[in-house]
Amino acid sequence: MEKKVEINESLCTGCGACVSMCPARILKMEKGKAKVTDHQSCDMLAGCMYACPTGAIKVNRKARMAGIFGF
Ligand code: SF4
Repeated sequence: MEKKVEINESLCTGCGACVSMCPARILKMEKGKAKVTDHQSCDMLAGCMYACPTGAIKVNRKARMAGIFGF
C-alpha cells in the first residue's frame, strides 16, 4: 500500500509540532523522531506537513487528492 505520509528522519528535529497537530492521532515521537503509527487512519488534512518547521513531512499529494475527490 502507498504511504500517505512520509517523514524524512534526517530533517526531523523532534519538536513534536506534527504530533500535536494531527487530529487522527497517527503520529508519535519515538527516540526523538516523529513516526507514523497508522497510515490507514491518516485523513490527509496535511496539518502536520504545514506545522513542520523543517519540511520533514510530505503528505502524498496523489493519495490526498484521491481522498478529497474520490478518484
Ligand atoms: S514537526 Fe517536523 S521536525 Fe517537528 S517532530 Fe514533526 S517531523 Fe519532526
